[in-house]
Amino acid sequence: MSDSLAKVVAALAPRLIEWRRDLHAHPEVGWTEFRTAALVAERLDALGWQVAVGAEVVDAGARMGVPDAGTLAAACERARREGADEAWLARLGDGLTGVVATLDSGRPGPTLAIRVDMDALPVAESEAARHRPKSDGFVSRHAGAMHACGHDGHTAIGLGLAEVLVAQRSSLHGRVKLVFQPAEEGVRGAAAMVAAGVVDDVDRLIALHLGLGCDSGTVLCGCDGFLATHKLDVVFTGQAAHAGGAPEAGRNALLAAAQAVTGLYAIAPHSAGPARLNVGRMTAGTGRNVIADRAELEIETRGATTAIDDYMRERAEQVIAGAAQAQGVGYELRCVGRAVECASSPGWVGEIAQRLHGLPGIDRIIDHDARPRGSEDATALMARVRERGGEAAYMIFGADRPAGHHQPDFDIDESVLAVALRALAEIVEAVGDAA
Ligand SMILES: [Zn+2]
Repeated sequence: MSDSLAKVVAALAPRLIEWRRDLHAHPEVGWTEFRTAALVAERLDALGWQVAVGAEVVDAGARMGVPDAGTLAAACERARREGADEAWLARLGDGLTGVVATLDSGRPGPTLAIRVDMDALPVAESEAARHRPKSDGFVSRHAGAMHACGHDGHTAIGLGLAEVLVAQRSSLHGRVKLVFQPAEEGVRGAAAMVAAGVVDDVDRLIALHLGLGCDSGTVLCGCDGFLATHKLDVVFTGQAAHAGGAPEAGRNALLAAAQAVTGLYAIAPHSAGPARLNVGRMTAGTGRNVIADRAELEIETRGATTAIDDYMRERAEQVIAGAAQAQGVGYELRCVGRAVECASSPGWVGEIAQRLHGLPGIDRIIDHDARPRGSEDATALMARVRERGGEAAYMIFGADRPAGHHQPDFDIDESVLAVALRALAEIVEAVGDAA
């Protein structure tokens, strides 16, 4: 454990909070992280990191759930108004809002990557006086968007690591890559970074999250409970007709959607483990006396393993096709998000856990936890690293929070930012020592 590291982190602690609060006040949802990405790129470039952005790190065709062109252009314009650097903005294209920064120590050693996500949620933030972002003046300035999952904290930790590792450069080995990922919410972003090859040279990967059911002081080193998932949008297209005068001329899209919903919830469970399916949204029709010619469904499947989730998706497609055929309507199905199962590497998790003992702010270290949770698309990056012979771990830094994730009064214990920064910097230094 290094004294100089402790000093550097202590000096940075107030700035971590400043960065987090600035990001919190300017939340950007998936693929619109123009201000955030430009700010990250500008700062890391100034520190001497080798910075890659836009098409270099995001494969445009592999993006899922991309907003329409007008939304992207408006978000880019807003970032410009808020002072985002023009040269970096130009390189982020139409929503290629990823940043990967590399620091080469010049000494032999492995390539270690740390992945943080940057996106916010389409949630309107609480304006209640007891909500600290409101009372302390850093509540969201973007109507209908909010950092309600802690990704503002993740990005701040990434910015902090960039500073600390430059300061500690003489004690590093190998290369460090900081991966700032867009569009984690809805599990839409990681696959496009995998397709761009950003982790193909990575030997060790850490992805991280704040909170997630863990309180301040607890650190979980290998969290594998994330469910594999597919997010599916379906549009049924039928034929409108007068419901009284010529009902036989209609093709009822609403009825097809309703039949699909019933069938979807009747998919048989899987003996290999838990599965989930939810239809969260259904819209259809134009008026009381018109046979509905259009209906839309928003569906998600989940499974404890990728195979179980694939089974759910396959069966869901059969049900949808069958319902469309029964009503003589057409349909279009789009996958707008996907995450695979989570698998941390036990050896790497053990090494990480070892480095955390005795660090300030950490009093409970959990090696491995596989209780079912939501989903997380860092698993795509983790799977890629493992496929190529590397090791990966998903860490959770517990953080007290007044409300649950994705809620309008969500907030995090900001003292955890420095705890996580110190822990990650210690792990990076230790990997160097072992080389
Ligand atoms: Zn999150």
